[in-house]
Amino acid sequence: MTNKEYADFLLKTDYDYNYYLEKYPKRALKEGQMVTRFAPSPTGFVHMGSLYTSFSDLQFAKQTNGICYLRIEDTDQKRLIEDGINGIINDFNDLNIHFDEYPNHGEYGPYIQSERRDIYASFAKKLIMEGLAYPCFCSSCELDSIRKEQIDKKDRIGYYGKYAKCRDLTMDEAIARINNNEPYIIRLKSLGDFNKKIVLNDLIKGQIEMPENDIDVVIIKSDGLPTYHFAHAVDDFLMGTTHVIRGDEWLSSYPIHYELFKVLGFKQPKYAHMAPINIKEEDTVRKISKRKDPWARISYYDEMGIPTEALKLY
Ligand code: GLU
Repeated sequence: MTNKEYADFLLKTDYDYNYYLEKYPKRALKEGQMVTRFAPSPTGFVHMGSLYTSFSDLQFAKQTNGICYLRIEDTDQKRLIEDGINGIINDFNDLNIHFDEYPNHGEYGPYIQSERRDIYASFAKKLIMEGLAYPCFCSSCELDSIRKEQIDKKDRIGYYGKYAKCRDLTMDEAIARINNNEPYIIRLKSLGDFNKKIVLNDLIKGQIEMPENDIDVVIIKSDGLPTYHFAHAVDDFLMGTTHVIRGDEWLSSYPIHYELFKVLGFKQPKYAHMAPINIKEEDTVRKISKRKDPWARISYYDEMGIPTEALKLY
């Protein structure tokens, strides 16, 4: 079996990645124009913290005559709430906040990730063909036992190096297991070295040095959908994002994203990692709580008759 036949055997797609590279040509931008995106997951109502991020996305696009688009990140199907996508769209409509591109509107769609399955799979196949991704058959039980071994040995946690059991399976071994109906996922075959450093020039936090990624992260899950990491690389490249403005909980994943862009041959966007907005109560500072703070829900402002302009200033 050739590498291409192997990739076709592992992942079925309607189109080859070249089709998508042609379908989504580079955006014609003038110097300084920014393309930003607001990328919520429909796992709950729109939260004050994400609204704050969306204002930055919208404002930078506006002041540079650029584009801000809305992308729905629904790849974690287990965490979706009913009507979550409409909830997000309605919340923004009610506040009279509009994106330049959004689901069913724009040249770079679909803007809902679950509708982009074929796109992600086609790029995962490219990596498989190049020997940069492989099928993994480890069950959650096996992963637990790897983790336990790492804890016992006080070793770093993760699927890497000698712990990456499926990394060196031969094509024939993998094919036999698939023909035997064993479920599998697709992992990156990381080329990184944890002892080497990469540098992120974050637009908010400044220069940050981090170890290279050496984890064979999951790129395609067993339901055929990508992980956040893989979808981030594929979408932000194909959709022409110039600046990724996101919560700083993603900062520690940056080495994974750096490697994914590199192996895919994609130019990286610039990154700005924003601190969350917290709430100060007398002497303590705490996170906004969806449960305790009714005003954390943005629909609250519309219900209270508070105009969007006031909310932006606030
Ligand atoms: N869906 C991710 C989240 O809600 C988006 C992060 C990003 O902007 O890349 O945290």
